[in-house]
Amino acid sequence: MSGDAGGASGGSERVRDEGYDDFLDAIAADEGFYLECPEGHGSLPPRRVCPHCGATELTEVPLPARGEVETFTTVHVAAPSFADDAPYVTAVADFGGVRLTGVVRGVDPETVEGGTEVTADVGKTDTAGERVLVLRAV
Ligand SMILES: [Zn+2]
Repeated sequence: MSGDAGGASGGSERVRDEGYDDFLDAIAADEGFYLECPEGHGSLPPRRVCPHCGATELTEVPLPARGEVETFTTVHVAAPSFADDAPYVTAVADFGGVRLTGVVRGVDPETVEGGTEVTADVGKTDTAGERVLVLRAV
C-alpha cells in the first residue's frame, strides 16, 4: 500500500484508514507513537517503508509530549463538513522526530504563531463530528 504521495500537493482528502485510526486511538489513550527507521527518520502510521530512505525496518517510538508549530494556515471559509468549525487553524507541528498535521485548539486562532507549543490530542469537528488530530496549545 502506497496510496498517499506525501508531497505538497493533495492530501486534503479524508480517506478512512485503519492504520491512521489506530494512530488516533493511541494518541487518544496518551500512548502516541511514530515510526522510526534505522536512519532516524520519523514517519506516521500506516507506513511500512520509510518515506525518506526506503528502509523497511520501522520501529514504533513514543511520541514526544510536546511539539512546536512550524507552519499554519487559518481557514475562514471551510469545506461543508467543516463549515461550523471555521475559522480554525490547521498547523504542522514539529514533534522532534516527526511532524504532525492537525487542527489547533485551545488558543485564539489569531494568536497562533510559529513556535506555539502544542500537545497532540484527538477531537471531533463541530460540524460533522469527525475525529481529527488536534494540536492543543499549552
Ligand atoms: Zn529513513
